[in-house]
Amino acid sequence: MSRAASVVMKFGGTSVADAQAMTRVIDIVRSECKSQPAGGRSPVVVVSALSKVTDGLIRAAGLARAGDVEKSSALIGELLERHVGIARTLTTGDRADQLVNKLTTQFAELGGAVAAMASAKQVTPANHDLIVAAGELASSRIVAAAFEEQGLAATWVDAREVLVTDAEHMVAVPDMEATCRNANRIVAPIVARQQIPVLGGFIASTSDGVTTTLGRGGSDYSAAIFGACLEVVEIQIWTDVDGMLTADPRVVPAPQVVPHLSFGEASELAYFGAKVLHPATILPAVSKNIPVRILNSRQPSNPGTLITAEARRDGHLAALACKRDVTVIDITSTRMFMAFGFLRRLFEVFERFKTAVDVVTTSEVSVSVTVDDRRKLEQIVSALSEFAEVDCEPEMAIVSVVGDRLHDDPGVFARAINALDKIPLRLVSQAASRRTFTFVLRDAEVPEAMTRLHNAFFQQ
Ligand code: ADP
Ligand code: ASP
Ligand code: MG
Repeated sequence: MSRAASVVMKFGGTSVADAQAMTRVIDIVRSECKSQPAGGRSPVVVVSALSKVTDGLIRAAGLARAGDVEKSSALIGELLERHVGIARTLTTGDRADQLVNKLTTQFAELGGAVAAMASAKQVTPANHDLIVAAGELASSRIVAAAFEEQGLAATWVDAREVLVTDAEHMVAVPDMEATCRNANRIVAPIVARQQIPVLGGFIASTSDGVTTTLGRGGSDYSAAIFGACLEVVEIQIWTDVDGMLTADPRVVPAPQVVPHLSFGEASELAYFGAKVLHPATILPAVSKNIPVRILNSRQPSNPGTLITAEARRDGHLAALACKRDVTVIDITSTRMFMAFGFLRRLFEVFERFKTAVDVVTTSEVSVSVTVDDRRKLEQIVSALSEFAEVDCEPEMAIVSVVGDRLHDDPGVFARAINALDKIPLRLVSQAASRRTFTFVLRDAEVPEAMTRLHNAFFQQ
């Protein structure tokens, strides 16, 4: 197969947080270019917004919705200042002036739009996406200019001209066919000229050119989409940890790096809360069988985690994951007893309100599900109440044990239950993939539950 580019390198928010971090990115990309044979293909670089910028922009949108013209404008002004400071540190002369002009114009337009939204006290989902997209637009411009300043031939690409999605704002779904056509028309020729295309992750547009975004953490997904379209040899996710760890390091002290994961394990971990990978990242990689590697931009020589189609040979569990602050909904109906169509009716409600269900368990007369997204909870409960009794329990969490070979050893489940000991378990399930055990418990018990499971499975 002819590969249009060598690798996609995606750098997350902390990897481009400031001028120093961006300088590390330049070194990493330069050594990737040097590792290519003469005349070899350039890498494609995808960047997130600078650390915390997306949070700031979401706050600005909130202030606009509340009608606070002054505070929302001040916040946009602060964000511009931060970007300009980094731009001036990394570039000089005309290049710096041009870059600062671009950033100033971009943020002035944004400031004007946000002020208008604040006066109208209205931020539509489309406007929300327009606001948050500013982070990736600005960071990618700075990175491209900084590459040039350091002698790396780079071309900035407006990712919205490449990545096409539907109009489901804030959680837009990519149109792979249109995106691949654009990637081959716009990005591939840049690579062929041995220049480095630099694109913002997370941002996209509809076929009518309206800005959309892929959901929080979506830059990983963008990188994998571009990688699949360009049929690269590897998709690299550069972040602030050494790879996929055996548990969330914010919950369990000293988890270890997992050197190798299968695609199935990685997607399951991402789906059940391992934030280091956006849950959809693996899908495009699987479609073209492209390995994904998670690497630490602060420790670039560390081996990281390699994710491939092959199952691990060591037979160990892969890792634990936790998805915090979910809501359990219990739906009970005595009429459900031996009734056809009850589940269809029930899930139609979730479909109607576009809310994903993560864990499902059933008993004779009741069904329990967990949901992460609470935005439509009230409407869902009222729709379900038309044919069943409904109870909601907030502040719950899903703890998962993941490994391809889980089912080979019937003792694993017993060990997990033993480790969890007297921690009350609300739901327990094993999905058809047979790769995951999930336990739903109170969110407050997560640190204890995760630490005990980690001790039982990874601390021998
Ligand atoms: P980036 O900005 O590079 O996309 P993220 O903050 O999205 O980085 O993801 C990296 C973070 O994911 C880590 O700093 C860590 O706190 C968190 N994380 C949660 N679970 C895991 C896990 N199993 N392995 C590694 N990191 C994890
Ligand atoms: N900047 C976006 C976010 O914070 C996307 C990303 O970082 O992947 O969610
Ligand atoms: Mg991320």
